[in-house]
Amino acid sequence: MPALTRQLEAEGVGTIVVVTDEPEKYGAGAPFARGVSVRHRDHLDAVQRELRASGGVSALVYDQTCAAEKRRRRKRGRFADPARRSFINTRVCEGCGDCSTKSNCVSVIPVETEFGRKRAIDQSSCNKDFSCQNGFCPSFVSVEGGSPRRGKAQAAAEDRFAHLPAPQLPTLERPYSIVIAGVGGTGIITVGALLGMAAHLEGKGVSVLDMTGVAQKGGAVTTYVRIAARPDDLSTIRIAAGEANAVIGSDLLVVAENAIMTRMQRGVTRAVINTNRMATVAFIKNPDLRTPWDAMEDGLRDAIGADAARFLDATRLATALLGDSLATNIFLLGHAWQMGLVPVTREALYRAIELNGAAIDANRRAFEWGRLAFHDPASVERHARPVDTDMGSDRVLAIDLDAAIARRVDYLTAYQDAALAQRYRTLVDRVRAAEARVAAQGTPLAHAVARNYFKLLAIKDEYEVARLYTDGEFDRQVAGAFEGDYKLRYHFAPPLWVKPDKVTGAPVKRSYGPWMRHALKALARFKGLRGSWLDPFGHSAERKLERRLVADYERTMAELERGLSADNLALAVEIASLPASIRGYGHVKHKSIDAAQAREAALLAQFRAPAAREMPIAA
Ligand code: SF4
Repeated sequence: MPALTRQLEAEGVGTIVVVTDEPEKYGAGAPFARGVSVRHRDHLDAVQRELRASGGVSALVYDQTCAAEKRRRRKRGRFADPARRSFINTRVCEGCGDCSTKSNCVSVIPVETEFGRKRAIDQSSCNKDFSCQNGFCPSFVSVEGGSPRRGKAQAAAEDRFAHLPAPQLPTLERPYSIVIAGVGGTGIITVGALLGMAAHLEGKGVSVLDMTGVAQKGGAVTTYVRIAARPDDLSTIRIAAGEANAVIGSDLLVVAENAIMTRMQRGVTRAVINTNRMATVAFIKNPDLRTPWDAMEDGLRDAIGADAARFLDATRLATALLGDSLATNIFLLGHAWQMGLVPVTREALYRAIELNGAAIDANRRAFEWGRLAFHDPASVERHARPVDTDMGSDRVLAIDLDAAIARRVDYLTAYQDAALAQRYRTLVDRVRAAEARVAAQGTPLAHAVARNYFKLLAIKDEYEVARLYTDGEFDRQVAGAFEGDYKLRYHFAPPLWVKPDKVTGAPVKRSYGPWMRHALKALARFKGLRGSWLDPFGHSAERKLERRLVADYERTMAELERGLSADNLALAVEIASLPASIRGYGHVKHKSIDAAQAREAALLAQFRAPAAREMPIAA
């Protein structure tokens, strides 16, 4: 880095600033060019503004080890691994996506819950950059010490591996083609290398062609492996259209791309596909993104036949069983091998894993679990379940409208009291009755009101955040995800004493030690003050606005009830659903309120003017 700055100086660059996540690594005597300043990346925005105002040519040199490389080095013990992890309290999370925006990280993954889409951190792929914690909300804690919990029952099942039946391996009368497709940084290249080495050890002909693209940024990676009985039998390393005999797909989105789909052919190709829904760059930009996963699965079945395609959530299973989502691709390899899709012996693969030298035991166990998942999927599910259910009760979705209402009545009772729950039920019942008068079947409006009115009533103010941290459920979630001796550090921006950033004006979060839990516990006990004149937080502009939103919603629902007809039902549902788009905390929430109110004004105008209903509305 110092040499680079000297080169820039020699080329005539004026102001040079090095921005890094570890400014301390450069001592006072680092041989930088004259006048170079080293700043923390937290000041990136400020530095850019300063350079914008400086005259002449300036340079900002950003210095940070690539995330995928960091993770790789940490696994091999060649990079410092802080005993700290980010964890999200999913019940406090509002699903606003600000953490994804701030971190631009695909390890912030979506979690579907009864109360909407929330976020979680994929602990296995997390590169411990912690910029997600800059997301403006109180949902993040740092778990200091301890380690991610591994599957509880795995040891009990491992004696079954020795008794798994050997599959019929493919014959090699003709060269055999395998496509391995997934996302960069998850071990796709490693699987190709293991297959290549195993075939080589058996004296077979083999070629491995990696296409890494923008792998380091979580982009698509594809490996073509061709195996033949003898080296001379291989004339080309590419896999032509319709020639893939096997597809090991660790990411459905990548497999569904045209470049991979065209390699497949009915009667030729068999596939094992991971159905896990990874966060994508598109999701970072659009927190509401709905990817057509089911349609992609159907497309694959159509392409090669339902019997030839096998789908399973390998990431969930591998993480629950082995405590690391990076075991997913070896798990899939074991699964494919047991299906008879891989023309090399288990012994050769074992030796290749050994020669690879990284996580030898874990990789072998992942391979065997993958085999067992094909042979006896029910037993693998049973063993995987204990860890997965520790993610919290909100992940269990209500089966129908009555169940959804009952869940929210219970929630509001715990949130405040029975009176608030009754206020909720009264409005939902009224809308439901109005809808029944105009709709022959279905209750989309009642569904919308049940979910959205609840969202406005159960705002996550200081008392609620405190309750959601101390009522026991969060402790269970953390204990389900981590083991050992750990303590929690909280990251909050308490409204009464938060300081704004000097450059952006946005409030800045601070971190608080384990003592904060006692403060939260005490605060939660005062929820009875909520909204009263004794409530110290209730007089803030934000709380007043939230109370106004409730009153406005009640008024709007009364208007919808009065004017409801079969013709405007869909429009009424859209209006009633608008609070779902109000998310986040502080300035993030304000922005979403402004957008929702503008949209509501347009929709209500259409509802009130039936003649104009056919006109399209700008989104
Ligand atoms: S509330 Fe928003 S910023 Fe916070 S964790 Fe959830 S999605 Fe991320």
